[in-house]
Amino acid sequence: QSVKLIAGNWKMNGLGASLDEVAVLRRALEAEPATCRVALCPPATLVERLGAAARGSAIEVGGQDCRAEPHGAFTGSVSAAMLKDAGASLVIVGHSERRQEFGENDGLVAAKAEAAVLASLAPIICVGETLEQREAGKAVAVVRDQVMNSLPKAVLGRDFAVAYEPVWAIGTGLTPTLEQIEEVHRAVRAAMLERLGLGSAAAPILYGGSVKPDNARDILAVPEVGGALVGGASLKAADFLPIIRAA
Ligand code: 13P
Repeated sequence: QSVKLIAGNWKMNGLGASLDEVAVLRRALEAEPATCRVALCPPATLVERLGAAARGSAIEVGGQDCRAEPHGAFTGSVSAAMLKDAGASLVIVGHSERRQEFGENDGLVAAKAEAAVLASLAPIICVGETLEQREAGKAVAVVRDQVMNSLPKAVLGRDFAVAYEPVWAIGTGLTPTLEQIEEVHRAVRAAMLERLGLGSAAAPILYGGSVKPDNARDILAVPEVGGALVGGASLKAADFLPIIRAA
């Protein structure tokens, strides 16, 4: 089993003062290094400052989204190269909040992931079923379809991850059972191998959706769970650190 990746997604939370939490996290990881990779994905306005606060530490910095195009007349958007230039080494693409609120489909998510690798960023490509799809018994089929269509061939041989985030588990305190997590993660791995071949075997599959200090150890021990994508519990070092320690 390769080294796990614990990534925090701050979503639209965090101002300059939040960098105090990064300093706390940094000191803790300097006192006792993590056995996993650790990343924080703050709002775009904080990427550069968080990068500066984390420089020389093991904490990697990521964006939460990027535009597929390299530059141009796209008011309000940031490109993958801009995130890279600001100090990021990763970027989340295809988060369900963007799929739902901005109508992003698999094709667009694949284009964003390709733009990320072209800019030397590691994409974290998100997939996950809705509650309605889960209740209809379609979770595995939906997620498999998303993996087949959201992963560009360009990620092969590059640093990237897939994140399985059931939409109904995000911010709700609900999580699938460990068996359900294992079932979907095995299906994600099978779809990755079918789409990209053995070269994708080392890419971690993260679980996301209400990961907390008290459930992280069990979830991270599930076969094919290669890390976590953490929302609310990544905002405070006191919550995020125990999740890092559980990996
Ligand atoms: P929560 O951990 O707050 O449920 O959010 C999960 C998520 O969407 C991470 O990308």
